[in-house]
Amino acid sequence: MAWWFGIKLWKRVFLGLILGVAFGLAVSQSMDAAAAESLLSKVKVIGDIFIRLIRMIVVPLVFFTLVAGIYAMGDPKKLGTIGIKAFLLYLFTTFFANLIGLSMGTLFRPGEGVDLGGAEPRQMGEAQPIGERLMAIIPENPFMALVEGDILAVIFFALLLGVGLLMAREAGQAAGRFFEATAEGILKMTHIIMELAPFGVFGLIAYVAGTQGVATFTAILSLTLAVYLGCAVHMLVVYGGLVRLILRLPFVDYFRGILDPMMVAYSTSSSSATLPVTIRAATENLGIKKSVAGSVLPLGATINMDGTSLYLGIVALFTAQAFGYTLEPQHYFLIALTCALVSIGTAGVPSASLFLLSIVLDVFEVTPEHTALVIGFIFPFDRLLDMMRTVTNVTGDTAVATAVAKWEGELDEEVFRQKPLS
Ligand code: ASP
Repeated sequence: MAWWFGIKLWKRVFLGLILGVAFGLAVSQSMDAAAAESLLSKVKVIGDIFIRLIRMIVVPLVFFTLVAGIYAMGDPKKLGTIGIKAFLLYLFTTFFANLIGLSMGTLFRPGEGVDLGGAEPRQMGEAQPIGERLMAIIPENPFMALVEGDILAVIFFALLLGVGLLMAREAGQAAGRFFEATAEGILKMTHIIMELAPFGVFGLIAYVAGTQGVATFTAILSLTLAVYLGCAVHMLVVYGGLVRLILRLPFVDYFRGILDPMMVAYSTSSSSATLPVTIRAATENLGIKKSVAGSVLPLGATINMDGTSLYLGIVALFTAQAFGYTLEPQHYFLIALTCALVSIGTAGVPSASLFLLSIVLDVFEVTPEHTALVIGFIFPFDRLLDMMRTVTNVTGDTAVATAVAKWEGELDEEVFRQKPLS
């Protein structure tokens, strides 16, 4: 027992990941598909329990850490500067994500020669009009927003409450400390839940590897390669470059510090479910102070999705190539812009962006039948692609938080540089 707990957590989670892949593949090779699926879905239960446990704390965590984070800033004006810096950096990194996505789509030409005839068309639901979506950020009833897990509305209310407590000065102190203490307690809950991570990750990955397997990987090989390579380049060059060249911080320590959230993102395909682990890694391994981690990360997990934007660009080119649509230069520009906007509106849950693809495809007037065919074609494999784009989304959030923290003097570089991870 002591031996097990003595191993660093990220190593145990990594072990779960590797063994999960091996187990899933072994099961799928040694029995027929139905039996494999039934066995693997039993193993997956442990993964589902893990996801439910971390999802359980997402809403209270966002609410309490955000109020506590704003309160810790000590001055409402600081919120403005942190907010503007974070937002500009979100946009800046997304710009590169689009550039990389469109380059990968052009280079790999994943749609060329793909026959979508056999795909089962899939229709998507109606997208909510943008005006309504924006209006819904202001909750009519914040308690309802909490109950329904409407994260943007919760963020909006928490921001204002934090500012209100600061403005109340002495009178707000007791409440402010209550939020700080509760946020601290919820973060400690993450420690308990993360002890289940090696097993949860094992179950989730075994299921994906065993039911999707190597065969599906190769069926959409060039699309998968384009997405995986694009995300890897984006993480290493753009985030790595930001950390190393602009912030002048050690590149390796940055990535080592966020291994936990990266692995959890990869196995859950959900940036919002990963959020508790992201906040923990940011504060404990990267040394980002609560005022920044508590405000920049929840917002980032909701609106900053570079992996998603990059992926949507590749799929847009995939569609054009598969059906022979001709793209003019202005289309590339509009695709990039739309991908960025759609990624902001994407929820941090599995496969969320695939169902918003039609908004991007509208740019070059793809017919509804073609759109349904593309979504139907990608849907069965989307999990593999989703895992990678979610890792990118989460890595982007921590990169932006690191930069803002450094610029605001809220980064403990000693913690950042020391051998991180518990
Ligand atoms: N699964 C992604 C995330 O949670 C969103 C997407 O579907 O692109 O970050």
